[in-house]
Amino acid sequence: MLIVQKFGGTSVGDLDRIQNVANRIARTVSEGHQVVVVVSAMSGETNKLVSYAEHFSDNPERAEVDMLLSSGERVTAALLSIALNEMGYSATSMTGRRAGIITDMVHTKARIERIDAAPMKNALAEGKIIVIAGFQGVNEEGRVTTLGRGGSDLSAVAVAGAIGADLCEIYTDVDGIYTTDPRIEPTAKKLDKISYDEMLELASLGAKVLQNRSVELAKKLNVNLVTRSSFSDAEGTLITKEENIMEKPLVSGIALDRNQARIALEGVVNRPGIASDIFGALATSNVNVDMIIQTSGHDDTTNMDFTVPQNELNDARSVVEQFCKKHEIKESTFDESICKVSIVGVGMKSHTGVAAKAFATMAKENINIQMISTSEIKVSMVVDEKYAELAVRALHNAYELDK
Ligand code: ADP
Ligand code: ASP
Ligand code: MG
Repeated sequence: MLIVQKFGGTSVGDLDRIQNVANRIARTVSEGHQVVVVVSAMSGETNKLVSYAEHFSDNPERAEVDMLLSSGERVTAALLSIALNEMGYSATSMTGRRAGIITDMVHTKARIERIDAAPMKNALAEGKIIVIAGFQGVNEEGRVTTLGRGGSDLSAVAVAGAIGADLCEIYTDVDGIYTTDPRIEPTAKKLDKISYDEMLELASLGAKVLQNRSVELAKKLNVNLVTRSSFSDAEGTLITKEENIMEKPLVSGIALDRNQARIALEGVVNRPGIASDIFGALATSNVNVDMIIQTSGHDDTTNMDFTVPQNELNDARSVVEQFCKKHEIKESTFDESICKVSIVGVGMKSHTGVAAKAFATMAKENINIQMISTSEIKVSMVVDEKYAELAVRALHNAYELDK
């Protein structure tokens, strides 16, 4: 088989762990498989580099940030390749550029536009183990770009698609996808399988075990994706098509997103085009707006409440401030002390009362719900950040996910 193996930050967190990863790859190769490896930076490294940039500037130029952050993955790729060569295997490391990963021009959250797989295919034909620095690509101007935090998962899936791999394994520090983050709820259960759609919701709603864009791409390209632990041989979780899953629980999992901020605008003049004005400008600034609530007041004004990722709040703030000036809006607030708790499950499609139970659970715990949004397979609630863990545990218990 042709297998892509991706190793996350903790899995390559120190030199012994890099050796451990080399041993695992060697084992896969000696079983007769071809392996393409994608690595993250050693754990903590990317955050450290971010803090270095912030030492000099509150708003560092994004192309320079990419130049900086992409270096973390290069270190791991080179070290792992050196370790494999020392063990007598023939390995070669590749940057995003050498691996042919071409992205758009958006620095710090670039999208992969295409992959020129020829260099990888040539190296495979020569019998090489390829070790790719994840999280990065190159744009049309030849500048290095990065794919957003957690983006090595996306590199792995995109590479698996481009070379037609039989399997894409994501090695991490937990042995699969759980009903909720096992660090928050120790009774969380590991799932054998989960559908692409549910995983996509969980990842988009804050379960950082997989980057959401990687799941979206895996679904689109029909990549067989498995999440498992690099520290044990336990079988992982298969992420697959819904029709491959026989038993569909009502609720499959609970996600928590702490990286949310709420923006509230009061007394916005209520006329056609006003929503398009603000949300169009936010989109142009690459701010991802999530929940939106608009309510009309008694006069001819309206209130607008919406959420954005906390790390995009600075960008959002300048757009919102301009908008407020232009439309003479009196009152705007920016609140970072919130979080979003969500329940996800394909079983919700055909059952009623799932959302009502979530609201009742919050009521019982005396947690005020600030915003609600629902779709066919999820219910999300914005609550005060101080209730984050309580809300997750209470919901996990209410839907009996520990059973
Ligand atoms: P890596 O560095 O390998 O990419 P991450 O830290 O990005 O690993 O993701 C793994 C972490 O995701 C786990 O340690 C766990 O705390 C967290 N996590 C959140 N939600 C879940 C979930 N539903 N199932 C498993 N892990 C989860
Ligand atoms: N090192 C990058 C990050 O910490 C990418 C990744 O690990 O996937 O976000
Ligand atoms: Mg990750």
